[in-house]
Amino acid sequence: MPQLSKNLLKEMNKQIQEEMFSAWLYYAMSAYFESENLPGFGHWMRAQAMEEVTHGQKFFTHIHERGGKVELLDIKKPQATWDSPTAAFEDALNHEYHITSRIHHLMKIARDEGDFAAEMGILNWFVDEQIEEEVSVGEVLDKLNLIEGNKNGLYMLDKEMAARVFTPTATMTW
Ligand code: FE
Repeated sequence: MPQLSKNLLKEMNKQIQEEMFSAWLYYAMSAYFESENLPGFGHWMRAQAMEEVTHGQKFFTHIHERGGKVELLDIKKPQATWDSPTAAFEDALNHEYHITSRIHHLMKIARDEGDFAAEMGILNWFVDEQIEEEVSVGEVLDKLNLIEGNKNGLYMLDKEMAARVFTPTATMTW
C-alpha cells in the first residue's frame, strides 16, 4: 500500500483540525443550550461533540496506518452564544455543509491520485456519514421551525433531544 501523498497528508491533518473544531463548536452550543435551561438540547450537542472527536480520531488512525505523521493544528475559539435555538441549529447545519464540502474535496484528491486505500478505507465512510449528519441536524431544524419558538413545543422537543444515546464503540476504529 503506497504512503499518503504530501498533499493528502496535509489535507487529512487539516481535516483533524476541522473535526476537532466541529467538536469545539458543538460543545459551545451545548453550553449555550444549558444556559438557556434546555438540558435535552445541551445533551444532544454534547453527544454530537463527542462524535466529532471520534471523526478526528479516524483520520488520526488512517494517517498512521499509511505511514504519515499526524500534525495537530490550532483550534480557534468558537462562537459562544446564539439568538435562539433555531439560529444555533441553522449554524450547525451550515457547518455540516462546510464539512461535507471538505470531505468531497478530500475524496476528489484521493480519486485524482488513484489512492484507493484513502477512498475505500476512510473517505467512503465519511461521504455516507455526512449525508446522515445533514439529515439529523436538518430534522431538528425542521422541528424548531415547526414550533416557531412556542414554549410548550420547545419544552417537549427538549425532552425528545435528551433521549439521544452516544455509543463510542460504534464509531471507533482501534
Ligand atoms: Fe464530523
